[in-house]
Amino acid sequence: MKRIYNFSAGPAILPEAVLKEAADEMLDYQGSGMSVMEMSHRSKIYQGIIDEAEKDLRTLLNIPSNYKVLFLQGGATTQFSMVPMNLMKHKVADYIITGQWATKAAEEAEKYVKVNRVASSEDKMFSYIPDVSNLNISEDADYVYMCDNNTIFGTKFKELPNTKGKVLVSDASSCFLSEPMDVTQYGIIFAGAQKNVGPAGTVIVIIREDLITKDLASYVPIMLRYDIHAENQSMYNTPPTYGIYLCGKVFKWLLNLGGLEAIYKINLEKANLLYDYLDQSKMFYGTVDKKSRSLMNVTFKSISEALDEKFIKEAKANGFDNLKGYRTVGGMRASIYNAMPIEGVRALVEFMKTFEKANEVSV
Ligand SMILES: *Cc1c(COP(=O)(O)O)cnc(C)c1O
Repeated sequence: MKRIYNFSAGPAILPEAVLKEAADEMLDYQGSGMSVMEMSHRSKIYQGIIDEAEKDLRTLLNIPSNYKVLFLQGGATTQFSMVPMNLMKHKVADYIITGQWATKAAEEAEKYVKVNRVASSEDKMFSYIPDVSNLNISEDADYVYMCDNNTIFGTKFKELPNTKGKVLVSDASSCFLSEPMDVTQYGIIFAGAQKNVGPAGTVIVIIREDLITKDLASYVPIMLRYDIHAENQSMYNTPPTYGIYLCGKVFKWLLNLGGLEAIYKINLEKANLLYDYLDQSKMFYGTVDKKSRSLMNVTFKSISEALDEKFIKEAKANGFDNLKGYRTVGGMRASIYNAMPIEGVRALVEFMKTFEKANEVSV
């Protein structure tokens, strides 16, 4: 068996310890004689798994008791519709457009509410986070929407928008559990698991209880109603049982590391290794505004597209996979989520140095 350094943006690397544990338990979960995949979601033993996952997530993020934790399906993209459908009272929502995912969320919301795009960084190819300290928030906005970490472009909010008292909704898919987060600042936080916390197929929604209403329920499809999922503790129908089990293992792994403060320190160290190298390289450079840099998705280019291509190819041959940037962006992207060990980033920087030296003549 040979594992490589996988810089995929998602589905992405998972902690090796978690995968090994899951492998050990594959055929017989704790004496049950079956795999977690084969268990009834209504069984006592599975209830223990989901309860423990929720408890550990609450500990990690210090989630107050007036917030519900939901484990749902349909990916982050389904939340693009669930949020407006369940929150629209005045049918007005303010969106901060910082990349492709926020753009898609706004377009989906437009089917249900009047969308005001109150800030955007599209003018510079989403290479920065706009000033959100004094936005023109709509008086009757049902919520203000942001995408915290922009997976494709490699930017991240360093300060939360001033929503002037309106409910804040955040797509935190690609930075979820990568650093501490003050849950009380949000009405809803959602995250697709496959970026930083588990396999594809599970999406985690943290929602303040007063936002869960039945008012709009009559025409919203039952699977898209927060109230139904909340009332049934994510068990209205069969939840993504195996995905939740793996997320739970990742939560335990994080708790054992020392929680979110501890992983944040490691993530800073990892990202700085890469950014510091990029800032002094004569061949490679980071593609986004320094103040907006993501710790999870590091986007960069070299001085030519031909060199980009050569670099991606040689990197792959040397055990560094999935470094190609998003198709509309080009260049490179190294996704260095929680599970990427610092050795992986060190090895990548060393490889980049060697590549830069070997190709000096063409610079
Ligand atoms: C990947 C991603 C999505 C889309 O997630 P799906 O689970 O494929 O629907 C949405 N938002 C962000 C920030 C992402 O990184």
